[in-house]
Amino acid sequence: VVVVASGGQEIRPKTYGYGELRGVVTQRELEEILKGDHAQKTLTSPIVMIQCVGSRDASHPYCSRICCSQAMKNALEIKRHSPETEIAILYRDIRTYGFRERLYREARQAGVLFLEFGPDQPPQVIQAGEKLQVRLIVQPEGEEMALEAGLVVLSAGIEPEPGNENLSRLLKLPLSAEGFFLEAHVKLRPVDFAVDGIFLCGLAHSPRAIDETIAQAQAAGVRAVALLAKKELTATPIIAQVNPRLCSACGLCVEICPYGARRLEPGAVYAQVVDVLCQGCGACVVACPNKASQQKGFEFQQVSAMIDAALQ
Ligand SMILES: Cc1cc2nc3c(=O)[nH]c(=O)nc-3n(C[C@H](O)[C@H](O)[C@H](O)COP(=O)(O)OP(=O)(O)OC[C@H]3O[C@@H](n4cnc5c(N)ncnc54)[C@H](O)[C@@H]3O)c2cc1C
Ligand code: SF4
Ligand code: SF4
Ligand code: SF4
Repeated sequence: VVVVASGGQEIRPKTYGYGELRGVVTQRELEEILKGDHAQKTLTSPIVMIQCVGSRDASHPYCSRICCSQAMKNALEIKRHSPETEIAILYRDIRTYGFRERLYREARQAGVLFLEFGPDQPPQVIQAGEKLQVRLIVQPEGEEMALEAGLVVLSAGIEPEPGNENLSRLLKLPLSAEGFFLEAHVKLRPVDFAVDGIFLCGLAHSPRAIDETIAQAQAAGVRAVALLAKKELTATPIIAQVNPRLCSACGLCVEICPYGARRLEPGAVYAQVVDVLCQGCGACVVACPNKASQQKGFEFQQVSAMIDAALQ
């Protein structure tokens, strides 16, 4: 039994042109500052937060889900330290979903200023002496604005762990177009993979807050225990088999099998099926150029006979 929780990482803001400037930090770095002794002194000059940095663009088309709530949480923490500090949050949409909406309301009540920008017009940050200046076109009016800032905070999103590709090849697990692991069925088997005995949770699956990760990890744990608690496992009888006389050892079936159930040992003259791993998906039957691969109970003659009977 394997639980895949390989995680994700912060999208590096340097890639987005803001990260090189002095006085520009990510929300995570701001959290470190807020934990320190000098927080009160450091955070008195105007602060501008920029949302959707690295998310919801061509290279990361998804919403990273945590950064709106994180910005509200940090803005409220600064307001608690020093209520006079001016904070502006520049956003495309505010996605403080569920009960996190409360943080958005509290931030508004605490005097945080919210300014919307368009997807094709991200704010520009420039160094203006010791200070920073953030220029933006405020939507929906289209008004040009320049904000002075002592600190610019980037709400950098989440991208998949770079090692996911290797892990997916090793365990033969599917990845989404964005590089996160893909569950067997979004509603019916949300923490399972199509391969038996492998489960997933957390950032390996998609961007999510820690409470959602914990809930999903508990679900994956229970699914794993349910499997381990069984004394015997019943394998599917409809598995593939190889006719050694027809097999040319081309290896196509080994390449295509999504469950790692095909073996072609070095020097072997025909491929073999690992019965306990085979899920009877039939991919090898379709791929085999010699009709050497067949599926028990669905052999070519049987399928042809069924089609003939249906057409008569
Ligand atoms: C920038 C950022 C800000 C966030 N802010 C918040 C927030 O404010 N509030 C909130 O609730 N949530 C926040 N989150 C989300 C929260 O951190 C995650 O939900 C949680 O950490 C996910 O836990 P995980 O175990 O799935 O992944 P991780 O915590 O990423 O752990 C995965 C672990 O697996 C290891 N690993 C990776 N590949 C392999 C491998 N091949 N073999 C062995 N080990 C491997 C990694 O090194 C890592 O230690 C934030 C996430 C990010 C990235
Ligand atoms: S959570 Fe908010 S800041 Fe983060 S990607 Fe989604 S909309 Fe953008
Ligand atoms: S039927 Fe599917 S799982 Fe079984 S060996 Fe063929 S490709 Fe692999
Ligand atoms: S694809 Fe067919 S011929 Fe090629 S190794 Fe597999 S069973 Fe043999």
